[in-house]
Amino acid sequence: MLEKHWEYLIIGTGPAGLGAAFELLERKVRGRILMVDREKFSTGGLRNDCKMNFTYPVGFPEEFWTEEEAGHYLDRVEALLKPPVKQKHNLETYKKRCRPLDVNLLEIRQAHLGTDGGLELIKELTARLRERGVTIELDREILEVGEKSVLLAGGELTFDHLIIAPGRKGFRFLQSAMNSLGIGYMDNTIDIGIRVEAEEEHYPIVRDYYDPKFHFPGRVRTFCTNSGSAHVVREKYTSRNGSTYYSVNGHAYSRKEGNGLVNFAMLKTVRLTEPLASGQDYAEMLGLQAALLGGGRPIMQRVGDFRMGKRSKGGTFNDDLYSFAPTLACTPGDISLVMPAKILRAIWKSMKELDTIIPGILHPSTIMYYPEIKLYANKPEFRDRSFRVRDNIWMIGDGAGTSRGITGAWASGIRAAESMS
Ligand SMILES: Cc1cc2nc3c(=O)[nH]c(=O)nc-3n(C[C@H](O)[C@H](O)[C@H](O)COP(=O)(O)OP(=O)(O)OC[C@H]3O[C@@H](n4cnc5c(N)ncnc54)[C@H](O)[C@@H]3O)c2cc1C
Repeated sequence: MLEKHWEYLIIGTGPAGLGAAFELLERKVRGRILMVDREKFSTGGLRNDCKMNFTYPVGFPEEFWTEEEAGHYLDRVEALLKPPVKQKHNLETYKKRCRPLDVNLLEIRQAHLGTDGGLELIKELTARLRERGVTIELDREILEVGEKSVLLAGGELTFDHLIIAPGRKGFRFLQSAMNSLGIGYMDNTIDIGIRVEAEEEHYPIVRDYYDPKFHFPGRVRTFCTNSGSAHVVREKYTSRNGSTYYSVNGHAYSRKEGNGLVNFAMLKTVRLTEPLASGQDYAEMLGLQAALLGGGRPIMQRVGDFRMGKRSKGGTFNDDLYSFAPTLACTPGDISLVMPAKILRAIWKSMKELDTIIPGILHPSTIMYYPEIKLYANKPEFRDRSFRVRDNIWMIGDGAGTSRGITGAWASGIRAAESMS
């Protein structure tokens, strides 16, 4: 039976919640720590592919972090997690090709554990926390948040300090918490785009640089590249009125036999201005539109068909030029029927630039999956730089817009916990 009062209550066992828990232990705070997660298995986004980026500004929204601050926390995250950092090769060759196109190839210090390595890390981290006295309650969803207590199925918990770190998928929960606490928030930025899947021989840069981050003019970028044993996956979302839609994503195993494929996202950042609308509502509408045309599934189209202005059909996935089977079963169709023109134009232009830098990526067999949606901007009005929203409540991680990746989320947890003692 769970005790009712906790000195430190953390909602979410993703990297933001973990960062906070380890920092509270490090600071030897007085009082007991409880972590609660609605999932049956810990912990949030470390489960997916687990690429860790250690170079600013990747994963660190610049409005909350200076390069110096992020560097300080990144050193601490790396010292605790000790991930094996990947080597990169031949970068100057790619950079030379980028320059005339005004494309920037970021040099990122990166480690990759893979989905399998991530699961092992989670087990190790949760065991370490439990050994040091932290209570971790899984399969328990927090339903409501108040100034001094939270509600969950079967009862109420009270707290002295509360850290809310529910991740991107917890955006509705975070919004309801902000509404009930009377905290203002901003939600005007989103990323929308496609996931590209290709044969590794058509995107061989991954042998030199595991997750190459290209930034194109027009606020388009490559993101989350996976290779080795790489798979496209879908994430399920429920709209405000209870309908289902999906966003695609990707991950890779580090120790399974390779499948010869690569996938990565091409995302365009959209910042909504006058008349200001909710980025999440906009993303939800696009997700539902894709689900409508895809018969309830994401849409996929071969580059060969897209170029000819044709929709893809089942047959397009069984031809000699269209040589590999998609790793995610989606509906063959026409992404230009569902993607807003401005986003599609910017992404296609960037794809052509990418094909100039890495000739081959626009091979007819390459698949474009739509939609890939990143909902991370529910930015609360913070009281200070520790992400405090009330004297005793903090909101952190991807859900609160203080991070956009594992290391930034972990750093957010450290920064919040530092201000508690
Ligand atoms: C498929 C995929 C691949 C990714 N690959 C990478 C990668 O390689 N590298 C990288 O840096 N980032 C990657 N990311 C992003 C990364 O997962 C996030 O940036 C990171 O996990 C954010 O951490 P967080 O702690 O803020 O949230 P999360 O990790 O999402 O954790 C939030 C936790 O809160 C819990 N929660 C939510 N609401 C409630 C509630 N009401 N009650 C109780 N618990 C609740 C959730 O169950 C979840 O476990 C990937 C994401 C996905 C989906």
